[in-house]
Amino acid sequence: MAPTAIERDESERFDRSIFAAMAELGLTGAPLPESVGGAGFSYLGWSLVMEELGAADMATAVTLSVHILSQFPVVTWGTPEQHERWLGPMVAGSALGAFALTEPQAGSDAAAIRTRAERVGGADAPEGYRLTGTKIWITNAPDADRYLVFAVIDPTLGANGIGAFLVEKGMAGFTFGAHEKKMGIRACPAAELVFENCFVPVANRLGAEGDGYRIALSALAEGRISIAAACVGLARSALDQAAVYLQQRKAFGDVLADQQGLRFLVAELARDVEAARALTRQAAAMKDRGEQIGVASSLAKWTASDSAMRVATEAVQLFGASGYSRETGIERLMRDAKGAQIYEGTNQIHRLIVAADVLG
Ligand SMILES: Cc1cc2nc3c(=O)[nH]c(=O)nc-3n(C[C@H](O)[C@H](O)[C@H](O)COP(=O)(O)OP(=O)(O)OC[C@H]3O[C@@H](n4cnc5c(N)ncnc54)[C@H](O)[C@@H]3O)c2cc1C
Repeated sequence: MAPTAIERDESERFDRSIFAAMAELGLTGAPLPESVGGAGFSYLGWSLVMEELGAADMATAVTLSVHILSQFPVVTWGTPEQHERWLGPMVAGSALGAFALTEPQAGSDAAAIRTRAERVGGADAPEGYRLTGTKIWITNAPDADRYLVFAVIDPTLGANGIGAFLVEKGMAGFTFGAHEKKMGIRACPAAELVFENCFVPVANRLGAEGDGYRIALSALAEGRISIAAACVGLARSALDQAAVYLQQRKAFGDVLADQQGLRFLVAELARDVEAARALTRQAAAMKDRGEQIGVASSLAKWTASDSAMRVATEAVQLFGASGYSRETGIERLMRDAKGAQIYEGTNQIHRLIVAADVLG
């Protein structure tokens, strides 16, 4: 991934062959249980994978993280038939996954989504739901093949009226809108989904009718650990590259690495990377032990994305003009880190989650 990362970012090119290569390595189902065809990695093991991917190319790490995020709820809430039919091709990497929650008027306030899923059928018509509405910022779209879509079945029930649906590219009434023009992770696609009376059979509903919101939140808690790990990798990469540069670049008669002011900064950045890694691995280990991960995953993702942003921003500064150049790949790390402070819950929302735990 690394040798083409700058070019793919510059040309906003999603390279499906990289996803296929990850499938060959077994990464497209690595943290899923062996019972559904996955490799059965612990989540701690998975966080090591994500750290390495994040160190090489955040865009590809995010594509894989979202692919895994879209599968986990199907493991937990799916029927044996859904495991086989839906997860089989995704674990094998022949189908790419996406997670569709955000809408034009509902991001952080996810319970305010408006995409409707109207129950239809019965008697002699097939039973199912008709989806109508728009999703935005959906990572991996339009390249993804399989979408976990959240829509309102009963608007009078608020968050308890939301359902989760397994929707395939090509279903009648499901099309794509604009591509998102992103600041960073530009080799990872994102686009709008448009549903116009899209019929989804009842066999494609995940869980019970009102389970959608719980399904979304539990998936995001897992996904945040994965994103945190990728951020640790990105920060580590920025720090390593800056350290090499400071040891080589001479100014005022000696290498920059001998300037005490810069040495103190580098020490602080190393502390940020280690602290982010510790919180991330703690959250992953808690998930492996079956403990509640809501707060731990928020602490990990908030800390790791803030660390990645700080280390990458300082790396640009330490490289001077070369850091500002689009040819060295350093400014890309800064742009890539920024998004992680926003997706999978903004870092303000993580403050709310942590505060609610402390203060009630
Ligand atoms: C690169 C990228 C990829 C994404 N991929 C996906 C995807 O695959 N699937 C998907 O469903 N969505 C995806 N998203 C959308 C993402 O989840 C939302 O952007 C995010 O949840 C924030 O929602 P919003 O943009 O509507 O901001 P808003 O919710 O409108 O928030 C605006 C600002 O207000 C702050 N804010 C909001 N509420 C509060 C509050 N109560 N207290 C304090 N501050 C608050 C926010 O932190 C933010 O700074 C992606 C976004 C990005 C940038």
